[in-house]
Amino acid sequence: MAEAPTLPQQLKQYLDALRAAGVEYVAKAGPTPFVRAAPRQTAAAIVAEDPLAARRRGLQLLADEVQNCAKCLELFSMRTRALSGIGPIAAPVAFLGDGPDTVDDREGRPFLGASAAWLDRALEFLSRTRDEVYLLNATRCRAPKRFPTAKECANCRDYLVRELELAQPKVICCLGTTVAQTLLQTTENIATLRGRIHDYAGIPVICTFHPAYLLKNPKSEADGRTDLELIRGAMG
Ligand code: SF4
Repeated sequence: MAEAPTLPQQLKQYLDALRAAGVEYVAKAGPTPFVRAAPRQTAAAIVAEDPLAARRRGLQLLADEVQNCAKCLELFSMRTRALSGIGPIAAPVAFLGDGPDTVDDREGRPFLGASAAWLDRALEFLSRTRDEVYLLNATRCRAPKRFPTAKECANCRDYLVRELELAQPKVICCLGTTVAQTLLQTTENIATLRGRIHDYAGIPVICTFHPAYLLKNPKSEADGRTDLELIRGAMG
């Protein structure tokens, strides 16, 4: 019986067969090419890479959360929408109102209703436009023909704190007693709070009268102007 070919003989026969079939070249075997997957970015890496984009994304997520909030049953049942703040990140100033009015609630933007006339005058004094400042409210839902209650302000304060943390305005202007007390966690009224600079998480805070009061009382115009001068000074 003929001996079985050795392994080198088998290999030579195989190569001869390939050559006879017209194959001139056989690739040398090597390791299988391996494509390494790009590592997934962590949230911290994304924030470190583009803090502005991360803050904008955070504000959008917060607005989505607020949109589903039903902590204040009366406000929740009457609102068209819950209204979060608008404006650029790190704006030179944020104007903080007490809550959306009927027009704001309908149009979906803050400071369009009764307080719009005051805001326009304030912006002119500060040489700023609406697009350059941050506009937000202490409560996100319209209160029917009244100021928001202390309970409603307390319910909504966590959203306010988180929004300011993300928006990081350079200066905050509180409009009226309700707002100032909610942000600064004080029982002082606006008459004693205005005229000086307070601090909220390292951000200078200036308190002034509620726009409705300033618009209805021409005698308060000088006081309103003094407060705006304080804001202008804090903005640098
Ligand atoms: S006012 Fe604020 S806490 Fe109350 S229901 Fe609206 S979003 Fe929620």
